[in-house]
Amino acid sequence: MMRDLQGKTAFVTGGASGIGLSMARAFGAAGMNVMLADINEDDLGVAVAELNERQIKAAGVRCDVADRKSLEQAAEETVATYGKVHVVCNNAGVGAGGAIGTVKPGDWDWTIAVNLMGVVYGTEAFLPHIRAHGEGGHFVNTASMAGMISVPGMEPYTASKYAVVGMSEGWAGQLAPENIGVSVLCPGFVRTRIHESGRARQEKFGPAATDERDPARIEAAKQLVLGGLDPDRVGARVLEAIQANELYIFTHPDMAPLFEERARNIMA
Ligand code: NAD
Repeated sequence: MMRDLQGKTAFVTGGASGIGLSMARAFGAAGMNVMLADINEDDLGVAVAELNERQIKAAGVRCDVADRKSLEQAAEETVATYGKVHVVCNNAGVGAGGAIGTVKPGDWDWTIAVNLMGVVYGTEAFLPHIRAHGEGGHFVNTASMAGMISVPGMEPYTASKYAVVGMSEGWAGQLAPENIGVSVLCPGFVRTRIHESGRARQEKFGPAATDERDPARIEAAKQLVLGGLDPDRVGARVLEAIQANELYIFTHPDMAPLFEERARNIMA
């Protein structure tokens, strides 16, 4: 199932940057068509242009994953553009946290809306389209290492990512008989711009308690992330997971023993 990806179509949220864009590069190199979805239109244009320069058939759609309708429209547009969709990466994510009692309601709402409900809406919007063609498919849901171990001071993020791991396990079992796989990606630190995720914050969630634009916070987060994995390595491993129909990808070999029973695919 899904071994031959040539000519098939992948939809990637948070596709304008970081891990999402790296997945799109890997899909394109495997001969897939790609639809990138992102809330940031400027980055989206740059990302699509980069893929097209690499001779990858790519298009972009502005999409807010915290909005069910927006994902339903993106699904319609993907099918209108490419005819069918096979791989859906629910990958867009943001980070918010703070000491216990100091996290603003808006930070909780924003993180849960994007990181958790974004995965629910993406799955529910695309599942009917995948079922309709009957050729099988694959969902890749980006959680985090913080979806498997608690990261103190990042509870909204941790809660959202634990939920993504749990939901993905449940869906994998339900969808397997239909030839539809579900993988969950649990990276450690990856060199992306996630430390700037305040850029994607929407007005409706109000100001952050821990202002992510604070230079000291940005710098500390940047240093952690800069020491991380190359996002293109993550993209390549995602492709392997889809082809092998494996459930888990996990980035940190030194932590593998903690997750031996659940982590099928350890990323060095
Ligand atoms: P990134 O900031 O480079 O990319 C995230 C993308 O998501 C951005 O392009 C942003 O505009 C987009 N986005 C944010 N809110 C959105 C919304 N409401 N609707 C649509 N798009 C939206 O970060 P990344 O590191 O590539 O993050 C991708 C995923 O990987 C996230 O789910 C993140 O939690 C996860 N992750 C990242 C790391 C890491 O170290 N970078 C580690 C573990 C997990």
